[in-house]
Amino acid sequence: MRFKVSIIGRPNVGKSTLFNRLAGRKLALVDDTPGVTRDRRVHPAKLFDLRFDVIDTAGLEDAAASSLEGRMRAQTETAIDEADLVLFLIDARTGLMPDDRTFAEVVRRTGKPVVLVANKAETRGAQGGMLEGWELGLGEPIPISAEHGEGMPDLREAIIEALGEERTLGDDEDEPAAVASTGVLIGEDIENPDDETVPEYDATKPLRIAVVGRPNAGKSTLINTLLGEERLLTGPEAGITRDSISVDWDWRGRRIKLFDTAGMRRKARVQEKLEKLSVADGLRAIRFAEVVVIVFDATIPFEKQDLQIADLIIREGRAPVLAFNKWDLIENRQELLAELREKTERLLPQVRGLQAVPVSAETGRGLDKLMEAIEKTHRVWNSRVSTGKLNRWLEGVLTHHPPPAVAGRRLKIKYITQAKTRPPGFVLSCSRPDAMPQSYIRYLVNGLRETFEMPGVPIRMALRAPD
Ligand code: GDP
Ligand code: GDP
Repeated sequence: MRFKVSIIGRPNVGKSTLFNRLAGRKLALVDDTPGVTRDRRVHPAKLFDLRFDVIDTAGLEDAAASSLEGRMRAQTETAIDEADLVLFLIDARTGLMPDDRTFAEVVRRTGKPVVLVANKAETRGAQGGMLEGWELGLGEPIPISAEHGEGMPDLREAIIEALGEERTLGDDEDEPAAVASTGVLIGEDIENPDDETVPEYDATKPLRIAVVGRPNAGKSTLINTLLGEERLLTGPEAGITRDSISVDWDWRGRRIKLFDTAGMRRKARVQEKLEKLSVADGLRAIRFAEVVVIVFDATIPFEKQDLQIADLIIREGRAPVLAFNKWDLIENRQELLAELREKTERLLPQVRGLQAVPVSAETGRGLDKLMEAIEKTHRVWNSRVSTGKLNRWLEGVLTHHPPPAVAGRRLKIKYITQAKTRPPGFVLSCSRPDAMPQSYIRYLVNGLRETFEMPGVPIRMALRAPD
């Protein structure tokens, strides 16, 4: 489903560079001279599975400055009007400039869905500039490097969140979702810290799953058994072709979308050479997924590659679930399970309480438990805690375990709010964000995880200085 995107920001923040990256062609001129891009152009663009048109814009120069710049500004306003979504770029290296605030105000007034993008995030000191971005009231700044292509999965995620899955991922069966701007949501949340309205988990939407793991872990067997048992494939072998991205099926009335993986492709082409796809190929599927099942071979668990895969999925913010496969080959099951669960906690502490389920893909044992774990993790990944509850919790924490003093001065924490879900992401307003020790942030994250029952999913915490 195509939508239109405008890239907006003051000169030199990197709009043309991002445009070129998304459009995949060197169309717009890139230059260090401010205002070098003069034409507005529309070009088909993609970001992983997202397809859209991107409108290149000249910078939002001050209209009063000169007639040329006035024209550029008018063009930019047209570009916002035409767009379904605005990517508002700031430069994380320089931090906020007065122009950023002016133009953020212009963008906010249009009421268009906005994704705030903090570019040049790979440069030194960019963290501070990125955090300043919160002050624009346009929501969470997404750190990227347009030049080096970093942060693109998060950008994809933010676009989907801002426009809705149906409009961006083009699930034709669903009605287009209402347009929502995360920016507005966050602003309201911060202004009304007692707001207790928390949206319900939506179990009517298909749950999107990918299955990954290193070669021979049993991914194809697992998928085939899952699909084979359910026998609710839409049509004979429907969707399982080389070109399809996903296959739908039902589990206890719950719609599931399983994303293209090596396993599915091989099922369709049994007669063809059963080439083992590289891990990287398999990992492409995780961009589409909400929950990612990581298949371990229980007879040789926790190989280096297993941990690398898990780590990547966690960093990408997906909801992970472990499947210890080939459990039928294991003799001392209870002992091994205890050992594997202990190792899971120790080696993947950033997702404490990770669901880990022993299964046999070949016999089908444990697959029901696996599906339950998937649904449970998906709920946690979607969970939202009201600002009121969070701040009552924070008050207790600050009474009993306040942050340490740094260089003789106490760090002050003002409030906390949940800025996003999928995965849960929190914003902590505090004095001197740069000085807050990582250990204290980890302590807070662990506390949140326990108090609000969010086991096994990545939790993000951003710090910002008060306005
Ligand atoms: P525009 O005026 O907003 O279109 O900005 P440009 O795309 O022309 O970029 C301005 C300058 O910033 C150029 O020198 C780019 O090479 C540089 N630039 C763009 N993106 C990045 C980035 O992610 N990191 C760094 N370090 N420089 C960037
Ligand atoms: P993939 O490369 O991850 O897709 O792995 P496959 O599904 O092709 O499985 C690799 C090998 O492990 C095959 O010989 C399977 O028959 C075998 N295998 C997969 N799952 C199980 C299981 O649960 N138990 C046993 N004993 N063997 C399995």
